[in-house]
Amino acid sequence: MTSLGDFRKDFDILNSGDYVYFDNAATSQRPRQVLDAVSDFYKTSNANPLRGLYDLSMMATEQYENARAVVADFIGASRPEEIIFTRNTTESLNLVAYSYGLENVHEGDDIVITVMEHHSNMLPWQMVAKKCKANLVYMEPTEDGTITKEEYESKITDRAKIVAVGHVSNVMGVTNPIKEIAAFAHSKGAIMVVDGAQSAPHMHVDVRDLGADFFALSGHKMLAPMGIGALYGRYELLEKMQPFLTGGEMIEYVTREDATYAEIPHKFEAGTVNAGDAVGLAQAIKYLKNVGFDTIKEQEEKLTTLLMEGLKKMPYIKVFGSEDPAKHCGIVTFTMEGVHPHDMASVLNDDHVCIRAGHHCAQPLMQFIGAGSTARASVYFYNTEEEVEIFLDKLSKVREVMGYGA
Ligand code: PMP
Repeated sequence: MTSLGDFRKDFDILNSGDYVYFDNAATSQRPRQVLDAVSDFYKTSNANPLRGLYDLSMMATEQYENARAVVADFIGASRPEEIIFTRNTTESLNLVAYSYGLENVHEGDDIVITVMEHHSNMLPWQMVAKKCKANLVYMEPTEDGTITKEEYESKITDRAKIVAVGHVSNVMGVTNPIKEIAAFAHSKGAIMVVDGAQSAPHMHVDVRDLGADFFALSGHKMLAPMGIGALYGRYELLEKMQPFLTGGEMIEYVTREDATYAEIPHKFEAGTVNAGDAVGLAQAIKYLKNVGFDTIKEQEEKLTTLLMEGLKKMPYIKVFGSEDPAKHCGIVTFTMEGVHPHDMASVLNDDHVCIRAGHHCAQPLMQFIGAGSTARASVYFYNTEEEVEIFLDKLSKVREVMGYGA
């Protein structure tokens, strides 16, 4: 059995010993196997996929379509055609908003989201609500980040056409009860959109079991290159939707006046596709499966427990979300009395400790929890207890550096 230490050796940037990288919720690092898979694609199989009638182009097409099948299997889609390759979660959610939302939401309808959403799962719905004269309804969490049954049952009514919720909050780390919310949304006739940017890297996802009609993910948060993401859409819905982008690759036939579109998924993949990075995403999925989500969860919980215990010993630190480290998905958001999060991140940076500081693209949540800005440390399976100790040690000295008593 490969140990976590062995997996860590695959990440050159971590092996350099230069950094304690605790900004995994923003983007993960990539193992050599993923980088090699992308490079091999360009070295051995590169041609414009889906176009050429020659062997090389067909090889590129095959690798690209294989990658689609790997993603479909990874999240439990019933067929590869239900997977659209995009650039990232943001593009996936915009695709749903433009192609499904604008067509199916009407004046007076509700779109229901939570106040915890990343801007990527908020701004597209603000746009749809404005254009369609619909209402944007916000579900609010309890202090520990929970969306209660009472909350979703009171906010999702017969008016709801779309319910869009993040599977895991990128600030609170909480996992939302998607399955229950989806079942309730369906009982009211709404469809369920899930932002899976923070869940797909950390847990086994089964879109059908969840009841997701759409599910968006970003490759770069789960060991794959930047610039490749995916959207799962239920076949029947995708089939009826109009394309989001138009142009080459996505047509059957074009006349001067009109065009007929290709079948799904190609209808939604206009222009030359990002085959190299799709191959990288497939390799990343293979890698994650090899590590195993049980191991990933166990390590993240171990590190988060250590991290939160350490933070508790610093009375000037306030941690947001649940007190239970198991409910953080490796994400710990906090503030330090008297020190701006940007200063905290900057002082830690002097010791090559990388954490996030700011509003985390969730400004309405910041307003809701009464913090203008927060710091966020986020761990992944390749991080170590030793790194948590370094982080805590350096953090405990920040106030001193900033001129406070220790
Ligand atoms: N949703 C959530 C919950 C996220 O954490 C992020 C990334 N921070 C996104 C959406 C957007 O992801 P991307 O920038 O890859 O589109």
